[in-house]
Amino acid sequence: MVKETAYYDILGVKPNATPDELKKAYRKLALKYHPDKNPNEGEKFKAISQAYEVLADPDKRSIYDEGGEAAIKKGGGDGGDFRNPMDFFERFFGGGFTTNRRRERRGKDVVHQLSVQLEELYNGATRKLALQKNVICDKCEGRGGKKGAIEKCMQCRGAGLETRIQQIGTGLIQHVEQVCRKCAGTGEMISEKDRCKQCVGRKTVRERKVLEVHIDKGMRDGQKIVFSGEGDHEPDSQPGDIIILLDEKEHHTFVHAGTDLMMKMPVQLVEALCGFQRVIKTLDDRDIVITSAPGEVIKHEMTKCIMDEGMPLYKNPLEKGRLIIQFEVIFPDTIPVSVIPQLEQCLPPRPEVTIPIDAEQVNLVEFDPKQRRDQQHHRMAYDEDDRYDEGPRVQQCTTN
Ligand SMILES: [Zn+2]
Ligand SMILES: [Zn+2]
Repeated sequence: MVKETAYYDILGVKPNATPDELKKAYRKLALKYHPDKNPNEGEKFKAISQAYEVLADPDKRSIYDEGGEAAIKKGGGDGGDFRNPMDFFERFFGGGFTTNRRRERRGKDVVHQLSVQLEELYNGATRKLALQKNVICDKCEGRGGKKGAIEKCMQCRGAGLETRIQQIGTGLIQHVEQVCRKCAGTGEMISEKDRCKQCVGRKTVRERKVLEVHIDKGMRDGQKIVFSGEGDHEPDSQPGDIIILLDEKEHHTFVHAGTDLMMKMPVQLVEALCGFQRVIKTLDDRDIVITSAPGEVIKHEMTKCIMDEGMPLYKNPLEKGRLIIQFEVIFPDTIPVSVIPQLEQCLPPRPEVTIPIDAEQVNLVEFDPKQRRDQQHHRMAYDEDDRYDEGPRVQQCTTN
């Protein structure tokens, strides 16, 4: 039992969620509420980031489970300090190639989530994805206007920033630095007549780009495919990257777990006892047949596996994981009383039961977990009242 569930609730998962489920939940929500897409949901974005930051760390998660948010906030070491949600987001989604690359000015990375079927991860696939990005305007070559028409912004003297004086109390003033409103921070001005007609002086234009995304056999949910330098491009900077994030859709038969596939298989009691065969349609559309060993009994929730019928290994697709099958034995509700003696002959003998002479015979009834004990008490008290009530009174209507 966890003390509070708020962090789990924010991510929309149960408190027993696996690290993978948490990761997936963060990924979905962080993309949805990222300030680029949802500028008014800054607080929500921050809350998602903080919740995941705690729950993704096994130590912090156990502190939270035991003591709730209060324990995290006062927690030992760095427990109480959360990372900047934007940095956290970039570390999570970013390609992680900043190590060797100089920290040049770069356009934004564009993260796109791509829904994929399990079949596509199994067989590999090529998907076309159309998206919009900023590219340098080819008409003015990113100048924004005619050659030589660019002047320094008068307002900020080319700095792109202006200082405003703000009164914050009687006799108190404050200098506030903000992006120059006249040139929008560019430090440049182009007179209207010299402005590039194609980009209206913005230097970049939106371009539709169709990417071919190659999904390799054995890729998994959450895997990134990076198109280096295909992100937004701004003048005087390197273009950012396009990052495609695979989002695996649920499959009707199989659950993907690492390199294994898992499935549930219902079998009738007669099959569990007397043997069975099943045909399984694989993700590459083959039919494979399984046959139970003669005389072996399949128990409810028993698992077995088929080697080499799981997911192909990424970068080594000739090797495959296992297909794990969990059996669900379906019991009949009743059997004809007349067959019981015959049936008993085939099954292991029943244990002897000795019943003491003074044992009380009680009834076995259906169990209803919603029926509470105090309701039964109430009912009894009511019955007794009725019994001991004497004298004339208005007769009550009773309903069954
Ligand atoms: Zn232009
Ligand atoms: Zn300016």
